[in-house]
Amino acid sequence: MRKHEVVVVGAGLAGQRAALAAIEAGREVAIVTKLHPLRSHSGAAQGGINAAVGADDSVDTHIYDTVKGSDYLGDQDAIEFFCKSAGPTVIEMEHFGTIFSRGADGSLARRAFGGAGFPRTIYAADRTGLALLQGLWERLGSERFTMYEEWELAKLVVRDGRVQGLIALDRRRGEFEGIAARSIVVATGPSGRVYGRTTNAHSCAGDGVSVAYEAGAFLKDMEFVQFHPTALLESSILITEGARGEGGILKNAAGERFMSKYAPHALELASRDVVSRSIVTEVREGRGFSGPYGGYVHLELMHLGKEKVESRLQEICDYSRLFAGIDPVTQPIPVYPAQHYMMGGVGTDIHGATNIAGLFAAGEAACVSVHGANRLGGNSLLDTLVFGKEAGIAAAEFAAKASTPELTAADVTEATAPYRAWSSRTDGEDPSALRKEMQQTMDRYAGIYRTESDLAEGLKRIRAVKKRFERVRVVDQSKVFNLNLTDAIETGEMIELAEVILVGAYARTESRGAHFRVDYPKRDDARWMKHTLAQMGPEGPTLSYSPVAFTRWEAKERVY
Ligand SMILES: Cc1cc2nc3c(=O)[nH]c(=O)nc-3n(C[C@H](O)[C@H](O)[C@H](O)COP(=O)(O)OP(=O)(O)OC[C@H]3O[C@@H](n4cnc5c(N)ncnc54)[C@H](O)[C@@H]3O)c2cc1C
Repeated sequence: MRKHEVVVVGAGLAGQRAALAAIEAGREVAIVTKLHPLRSHSGAAQGGINAAVGADDSVDTHIYDTVKGSDYLGDQDAIEFFCKSAGPTVIEMEHFGTIFSRGADGSLARRAFGGAGFPRTIYAADRTGLALLQGLWERLGSERFTMYEEWELAKLVVRDGRVQGLIALDRRRGEFEGIAARSIVVATGPSGRVYGRTTNAHSCAGDGVSVAYEAGAFLKDMEFVQFHPTALLESSILITEGARGEGGILKNAAGERFMSKYAPHALELASRDVVSRSIVTEVREGRGFSGPYGGYVHLELMHLGKEKVESRLQEICDYSRLFAGIDPVTQPIPVYPAQHYMMGGVGTDIHGATNIAGLFAAGEAACVSVHGANRLGGNSLLDTLVFGKEAGIAAAEFAAKASTPELTAADVTEATAPYRAWSSRTDGEDPSALRKEMQQTMDRYAGIYRTESDLAEGLKRIRAVKKRFERVRVVDQSKVFNLNLTDAIETGEMIELAEVILVGAYARTESRGAHFRVDYPKRDDARWMKHTLAQMGPEGPTLSYSPVAFTRWEAKERVY
């Protein structure tokens, strides 16, 4: 059996940062990843990373903006730690080799982002994620750890109250293999493909989150799903908030700059939940444009001039030209909100520890929580690096003291029995049809505006899909890169997450941040100032709640 001290699952920014920290703490490390590290979704991040650097900004304002942005659901002790770590983290990344955009005086260039009281988003044109990923990958040095590339985590083995190892599918050979580990960091990134309309890459299937949930980990605040206001119509490719940060404006079909009604001060740079709801309201009330791909509004950059648009927003120009056939230098971009980010994830403390000994989580797969009910743009890249490092250090410390884990061939055989059953069926359900049905259900019933009856209907439908999944069939019998099998694995995992999102959203009878209940339109601090914790039970998720940590900021009404 393969054995390692620390195994990090995921090689995006969070996973790589965790691995680097564990290596620097003197531990022997392996990385398991289903994608090449530089193909991780972190590389798609466009807009930038937040840090109060410069004498004109303050860490306290960053903390306050994050607390307010979270609609007071973020844990303030964690947020203080997070924002204080921001400056050193960005400087460290620049020392690792990330090439950031510069101002005329050579200092780090900063742009305005939604919900921020100061322009503190540091960027590398509109390719910030890729620039960070590249710098970190070079620093990590591929000779310092064992790499399991194209390996997909399928199960975690937990016994005697601690994690013993994992089981993964080596996609190249089509074999399930066990890896024993003293400690494991789950850094598997986003779960956006639970929805159909999403800015997330196809690989963002939340499988790590779901595997941790099945192993007994608590999932925290899963009902809080962020919809990004500006995704390109039809493809849902992201148009970065940086486009509005650079001065882009939103207009309805009557040519009105409608954000002045909803956020008179911050306008297009109100927080994402506010701008997304405003766009949907405009369209629903008949003031949007309509076309074969549904309603939409316009994002205008034309007034910024060719030079600025083409230099600061290079990718946005490419995407608009390529995927929508329009040129943002001379034409408005058709946009509509799409799922973008999960505030929830595997519940952890500031050091990435979960409720299972030896199991840690970081990045978008985790929920510390610093984003609470709504994440600010630019805070997620920061989250991956700050808490990736913390999780790596804590996993290394755990591994240094832990006894030898026990994982046997029998564990692998037992855990993978369901997959063999899928492949031996002669008839059954097609996983891609079930995936599509799940995505359409989530788009329709668990979107931006939610009601009790919609959520109940959504849950009924998802449970029906889950029932049908018991009879899933993998038709393709080939060993090498069997995408039918990986599709089935990921679909099964996502259905579990969809159920958790719906159950949490149904229970939370208030509106807070990205969770908007039409039937309970106000925030209800007396009853709901608490985190949702979901644990897997025999009949689906069971919910409990935990308190929110307050330090210096009292909950106030949130206006932009
Ligand atoms: C289009 C887009 C633009 C964004 N722009 C910004 C921005 O400008 N600023 C900002 O702050 N945030 C932004 N975000 C959010 C931010 O980029 C992500 O939250 C963050 O990069 C996630 O990093 P991660 O390391 O947690 O996950 P990822 O970078 O997605 O890495 C996940 C890793 O896990 C691996 N993996 C997944 N499942 C498995 C499995 N079952 N087995 C093995 N390996 C697995 C993958 O191979 C991958 O290496 C953006 C997100 C999107 C989608």
